[in-house]
Order: sequence, then C-alpha cells, then structure tokens
Amino acid sequence: KIHDELVELRGNMRVFARVRPVLPAEAASGGTSIVEVPDEETLVIAPLASNKRPRTFEFDNVFGPQASQDEVFDYVDPLVTSLLDGKNVSILAYGQTGSGKTYTMQGPPDAPGMIPRSLGKLFDLINADDADADVSYALQASVIEIYNGEFRDLLVEDAVTAAAGYGAARPSAAFASPARACSPARAPGTPDVTASPRIDLMTRTPSTPSTPRTPRRRSARSAPAPTEADGMTRTTSVTVEFKGVSAEPVASMADVEGLLVRAEAARAKASTSMNERSSRSHLLVQLMVEKTNMRTKTIHTSKMVLVDLAGSECVGASGVKGINLREAKHINRSLSALADVLAAIRAGAPHIPFRNSKLTQALSDSLAGNAKVLLFVNIAPLEQFLVEASHSAAFGSSAR
Ligand code: ADP
Ligand code: MG
Repeated sequence: KIHDELVELRGNMRVFARVRPVLPAEAASGGTSIVEVPDEETLVIAPLASNKRPRTFEFDNVFGPQASQDEVFDYVDPLVTSLLDGKNVSILAYGQTGSGKTYTMQGPPDAPGMIPRSLGKLFDLINADDADADVSYALQASVIEIYNGEFRDLLVEDAVTAAAGYGAARPSAAFASPARACSPARAPGTPDVTASPRIDLMTRTPSTPSTPRTPRRRSARSAPAPTEADGMTRTTSVTVEFKGVSAEPVASMADVEGLLVRAEAARAKASTSMNERSSRSHLLVQLMVEKTNMRTKTIHTSKMVLVDLAGSECVGASGVKGINLREAKHINRSLSALADVLAAIRAGAPHIPFRNSKLTQALSDSLAGNAKVLLFVNIAPLEQFLVEASHSAAFGSSAR
C-alpha cells in the first residue's frame, strides 16, 4: 500500500485536518461553509465578511466534508501494522466541541470511526489465517477519562453497576446533537464526579531496547504465558503504567465493544449531560499488545492510545459561558502542554516537556521516541465557528 511507504518515509508524526459537513439543521437555517480544500494538503478558511482575509494552512492530509470514514481510515490503517511491529501508536482528535472529534474517533453505528476500525483491523491481522504457531498475542484494554487533571477509570465495577440503567447505551450515544461551546456548568446540587474512583499515581518502568523485527506471521492461538524461566526475553516500549487502572483482557471486537459500552455508561453517569462532559474531559482508550514469539524466544509489549480530547474552545475560556474556572484551567493546561510537547517533538528538541500535565504524562511513551503519532484537527466549517476553526487549524499546522 502506498500509505505504508508514506508513513515510513516521513517521520513519526502526522497531522491531518478533517472538515465536517454543514449539518442539515445548520443548512436549514442558512448556514454555509467558509472552508475550502483546494488540494489534499491545503485548508483555506475564507470568511464571508469582506474585511477579513482568507487564511491558508498546510497539513499532511486534509479530508473535506465528503470524505468517508473508509477513506480516512486508509491513512490510519498502517499504524495498526506498526503496533504489531512493536511500536507505540497514538491517535488524537483535537477541535472545538461540535467539530467532529467523536464522529472521527468513535463514529455512529452506521459509520464507525477510527477506534472501532483500528481495533477491528488489529484483530483481523492477529487472526489472519496464515497462522504461525510460534507467534501469539495477548491484548488488554483500558478506558480512562482525564477530568480536572485527574484520571478516572471508566471500567471500574461500581461505576458500571450504578450505571446499569445505561445498559442499552451504545458508544455512539454521544452523538445526539452537535453541541456548541463548552456549555453549561454543572448545576449546584448535581452529582460531583469526585464520587467516582480516581487514579492519582503513575509509575514508570525503565525502558529497554525493543525487540529486533521478526518476520510477521500471526496466530490467533493463545500460548501459555512464558516467563524468563522459560528462557524468554522480555522487552517493552511501554514505560508509563497506570497504577490502579484496570486493564481487561480482550480477545475479540465484541469484547472491546462491550468495554466501550461500559465506559460510555460510566462516563455518562458522571454528568447531567454527555455533551458537557465530553467537552471538558479527555477520553483515552488504551490497548496493550503483548506479542510472544517462541521461535525468537521474545515477548514484546507495545501499546496504542486513542484519544478524544476535550473541546479546544475551553482553552482561554474566559469568554465561554458556563465552564468553571477550575475546569478551564485544567483543560487549558493540558492542551497547551500537548501543544508544547508536539512542538518539541517536531523540532527534535532534546528535552520534551511531558511533565506539565496529566495528559502529556499519560501519553509520553505514545508520543516520544519511536512512537507513531497521528493528530486529527477537526474543523466545523461555518462562519460562526471562524475563531475556533482558525485556532484549531493553527494549532495543528504548527504541530507538524
Ligand atoms: P465533537 O465530538 O467534536 O464535539 P461530534 O463528533 O459530536 O463533535 O460532531 C458534531 C456533529 O457533527 C454530530 O452530529 C456528528 O454526527 C456530525 N458530524 C461530525 N463529523 C461528521 C462527518 N464527517 N460527517 C457527517 N457528520 C459529521
Ligand atoms: Mg465529542
């Protein structure tokens, strides 16, 4: 595939812009697009107001409003192969609330997004029928939210039990309506998320050199977990572990979907409004892959993190109604820490400032060194979103 080569040749970070369509309700009230995609790498924001100049931004790829999830995934797909080759991978979606982050990452049931597609592809590769009896994989998933600078495990038992009323919810439940802005703060007297378990500690394990690349043949069979006593050599690309966050074994797409439904229910329970919640918190879906090769006597661990970031309009949110100061401060800190980290990586800086936020700490081994990073910048194309669209486009094109 041509994209494989592109990914190999052009370094470890990609920034893609994706422009969502004008929605039917927006069109009905006269809304039109002010965003143009003259070619695959260029985005132009051309305000209708004659006193404002058009601005042009460059990306590794720009997807216009007609781009299907299928077409977008074509460019994401090689990352899944990298993961099985032992690299850490992260895919993030940045943009204001209502710009299409959740559509891109999660997708509605009839148009699944990058999270289900990546995981589906992963299981396809693992289960490929050219099975090699010597190679096996063990997968574990975690779903974490970062809110107000704290981690929250979305797979914990009590949150799930208490949220049983959401049992029928699909991960796509977040799609109800396009939310605008960092919307209303929690009303006084409504439940506080501090009632839910939070995780404050992360541990670091020393990193070790990664396994030499081995011929890639795959088996769905699970081998008995070998240990050093069996003469196996263990290596890992994973240096950040979430202490106290559950990591559940997954063996199929159905397993993962089950976890996403549970996580969604736990997340919804923490807020009176799902839109409000997802505007103000980062959602991280993490997949750990342990590859055992009996022929080379190696076990290598790598991970993929898929991130639906908090709404970027919450940055500098003094003008945004409803958000409280504490929330704004945390979102601000984490998204600007992310910007700093991406800029440092791009510049090849010797020091990458990961420690400045929980988000960048959590992602440090998925952003640094050998890791493959893909940042989606999601753009809502109407004039009313001009300021945020320009901000997001500038954020993304400066990161690359
Ligand atoms: P965010 O997660 O950034 O707040 P959403 O993903 O919820 O934004 O998208 C806002 C609205 O726009 C939703 O109704 C969603 O279905 C729609 N939407 C977003 N991107 C697309 C797209 N590429 N094609 C069609 N509809 C989209
Ligand atoms: Mg969303």
